[in-house]
Amino acid sequence: MSLPESAGKTAPLRFRVWLCSDTSKKSPMELINEVPPIKVDGRIAVCEGASEGVGLGHPIEYICLDLEAPNVCKYCGLRYVQVHHH
Ligand SMILES: [Zn+2]
Repeated sequence: MSLPESAGKTAPLRFRVWLCSDTSKKSPMELINEVPPIKVDGRIAVCEGASEGVGLGHPIEYICLDLEAPNVCKYCGLRYVQVHHH
């Protein structure tokens, strides 16, 4: 059993185009990962989701920044990092 030659050529091409367009889309988590961590002068960050009029907001979330690594808001995924003054 064999497919016509034209079908054998077009099907893989369509598949490649679909793959390309699919990988160019980014999930919300990938987009949020491109936002640099927000620097906070203190041990506690306060996140309401909406910054500078962007976003719908969420209940106020207090994020402890005692760890060295940036901490993530569980609501909106924004990252916060403590600024250390020396
Ligand atoms: Zn948030």
